[in-house]
Amino acid sequence: MKILSLGAGGFIGSHLTHRLLTEGHTVTAVDIETDKVTEFLGHPNLTFLQLDIRSPEWDLDSMVRDSDLVIDLIAYANPGLYLRIPLEVFRLNFIENLKIAEACVRHGKRLIQFSTCEVYGRTAASLKNAGLTDPEDPIHATFSEDTSEYILGPVSKHRWIYSCAKQLLERVLHAYGIEMGFNYTIIRPFNFIGPKIDFLLHEKEGIPRVFSFFMDALLNGTQMKLVNGGSNRRCYTYIDDAVECSWRIVENPGGVCDRQILNIGSPANEISIRQMAELMREIYAEKFRDPAVPLPEIVDVPAEEFYGQGYDDSDRRIPDITKARTLLGWEPKWGVRDILETTMRYYVSSFRKNG
Ligand code: UDP
Repeated sequence: MKILSLGAGGFIGSHLTHRLLTEGHTVTAVDIETDKVTEFLGHPNLTFLQLDIRSPEWDLDSMVRDSDLVIDLIAYANPGLYLRIPLEVFRLNFIENLKIAEACVRHGKRLIQFSTCEVYGRTAASLKNAGLTDPEDPIHATFSEDTSEYILGPVSKHRWIYSCAKQLLERVLHAYGIEMGFNYTIIRPFNFIGPKIDFLLHEKEGIPRVFSFFMDALLNGTQMKLVNGGSNRRCYTYIDDAVECSWRIVENPGGVCDRQILNIGSPANEISIRQMAELMREIYAEKFRDPAVPLPEIVDVPAEEFYGQGYDDSDRRIPDITKARTLLGWEPKWGVRDILETTMRYYVSSFRKNG
């Protein structure tokens, strides 16, 4: 297939593009950055266009017309950005993505749209007066693509602008499917993690995701900070598992993914952020420790101090992956300890090589 992969230079995009090339596809990859794809930039089946899709000289229409399949990974997908540049988050994640989707509609091309598990928002158990008999029951945090309700915070908590932008995009794709027979598949990733997930703090300005904060603290002996006590929970999904499932969605045997939304995640890997900090510190002490650098202390910080005003959070999110299992025969293989150790090994070795 001739695949147009937009956002191919990001964390998910770089791993997925590599897999597509390995499987023999021809890929036109577009991204603003190339640092995560340097090792396969010279691949004979890859055309890499380093550009910003917001720039006027870029010809989206003809690129879509000339492809068999479009994969859209373009996003600001990092909570630090939802707080700092909410308008840009809306513009990129909705307006620009909509242009891509509408080009696919015009040319009758299938689109794989990466969305987010953030569309589900918070759990019913997080609401003050929900009156649940057992708020800890995972049923309240297990999200299914076609039946779960969404609970988001108020407008003043602008973290949710990302969730809303992605949700609206999903709804528009669905509407194009109903009214015009548009063929899309929406993927909702649940906390993918692995090598290249993010930059470390000393490499670049900005607010990466939690793994990088903790990794940086371990490498430099600084504090590991738990926002609001680190009680929120996530299900971390190793990038190789995620790419395997995404790959099956690309293949789409018998059209099983046509006009479907699919969660990709590892329900067995639930861990609180506090447990994650402790586990990373334990793994680091056991496998990677530099005796000259002290092990970090783990401290609590208020969310407003860490992120600024407008922060709110998903308390817990567990993917229901029945659809990926039944439609694609996919099962995640990686457990949380191995995921963290493997990802940490990548960052420790690149830190020591470069430092
Ligand atoms: N977090 C934390 N310490 C940090 C960075 C993040 O406790 O140094 C928390 C954050 O408040 C959230 C969780 O870790 O509850 C995961 O945040 P992340 O930025 O990785 O992304 P998310 O999973 O919310 O999309």
